[in-house]
Amino acid sequence: MAPGDGGKDSMSAEVAVIGGGPAGLIAAIALKAAGVDVLLIAPVPQDDHRTTALLAGSVTALTILGVWEACRPHAAPLSTIRIIDDTRRLLRAPEVLFNAAEIGLDAFGYNIENINLVAALAAHAEHLNIARHTKVARAVASDATGVTVKLADGTARVRLVVGADGARSLCRAAAGIGTDRRAYPQTALTLNLAHARPHDETSTEFHTESGPFTLVPLPGRRSSLVCVLDGARAAALAAMTDAELSAEIERRAHSLLGKMSVEPGRGVFRLTVETAHSFAHARIALIGEAAHVVPPIGAQGLNLGLRDAATVAELVADARRQNADVGAPELLARYDAGRRADVMSRRIAVDLLNRSLLTDFLPVQGMRGLSLYLVDRIGPLRRALLREGVMPAASQPRLMRGEMV
Ligand SMILES: Cc1cc2nc3c(=O)[nH]c(=O)nc-3n(C[C@H](O)[C@H](O)[C@H](O)COP(=O)(O)OP(=O)(O)OC[C@H]3O[C@@H](n4cnc5c(N)ncnc54)[C@H](O)[C@@H]3O)c2cc1C
Repeated sequence: MAPGDGGKDSMSAEVAVIGGGPAGLIAAIALKAAGVDVLLIAPVPQDDHRTTALLAGSVTALTILGVWEACRPHAAPLSTIRIIDDTRRLLRAPEVLFNAAEIGLDAFGYNIENINLVAALAAHAEHLNIARHTKVARAVASDATGVTVKLADGTARVRLVVGADGARSLCRAAAGIGTDRRAYPQTALTLNLAHARPHDETSTEFHTESGPFTLVPLPGRRSSLVCVLDGARAAALAAMTDAELSAEIERRAHSLLGKMSVEPGRGVFRLTVETAHSFAHARIALIGEAAHVVPPIGAQGLNLGLRDAATVAELVADARRQNADVGAPELLARYDAGRRADVMSRRIAVDLLNRSLLTDFLPVQGMRGLSLYLVDRIGPLRRALLREGVMPAASQPRLMRGEMV
């Protein structure tokens, strides 16, 4: 590949990944594992105190890529999921417990702090000698034969850009791709906490009138919390002292895990859903939140991002085996088509669940209760839903199936 503008600072590679959040780092590692000459354009991300519940397929992919060993000591298994209707409404759903053993798994997945996940990924990228430029990309421009990425101190010329630059994506704008975006009247307060009683590897989701209140195990007697509230309540909780907030969260958790004490690092996130009109165009493929943002309900966001990364790496690896152009329109069209059903099905499921909690409309509350009742009682339906939640039939790239890219 010829360098971009011939300047002394120019770099060239086959593929550039722009963005060093978890999705971008995994894409760069998967591409490198496939023998691709990859350039990572990624400033070191700010500390992210959120956690990610990595579902079984994502854990398999990280294992195959050689990253899981460094993640495992920081991750807690999720063996059981408990859903409690805490809406205090007339029509309430029964409490439901799901065990991973029902679908032949030790755990539905593992919960890990994003700080530890990103550190393990960044260390592995370095170990693989992935070239990394640690300043932001300033501009991205595609033409018939490649893409030129303008950097702080030069340019890079590549055949394909993987845009992993988050919800306000420069890559998406450069590809001329618009989005479909909607804000919910809710905000998520996130934090990690210690508690007196063991969580027994059980994630507990209280369904409240303002949205889910979800405690997810971390190693030891610690859990992460995603508490979805209206904006004013979230701001009021976020402004509390540690002691006040610990007591308030224990009250909301009905003292299920005993006395609680919150740790530093609170996050406040406005809930939105956003989907790019296309996931790839003009030699630019979008992954992670550059392609789709879903509300933090049901641990879907980054798991989708990992499947994006695995899919794009697989398509690039296949194109190289056939000596084809890794930025060709056919490859981009296959990527877009391959990801759409998975992304849209998660978006719709999360949206339906969230709306059914917010509504005051009695028949919808009844439907939610009835659905959970049926899922609880009908074994095959229950197992099919659990399998679909953890290993979606619509999208199982090779890495998620335990095969190399
Ligand atoms: C409260 C909450 C809880 C969540 N819990 C879960 C969960 O349990 N499970 C799950 O699967 N998902 C979860 N998610 C979703 C998950 O956090 C996101 O999907 C994930 O963080 C997105 O990762 P990303 O790499 O796509 O984007 P980001 O993490 O946003 O990374 C984008 C990166 O690109 C960089 N960047 C931006 N512009 C440029 C540029 N021009 N040049 C170079 N770099 C650039 C940024 O600096 C950043 O580092 C949750 C989300 C929220 C809000």
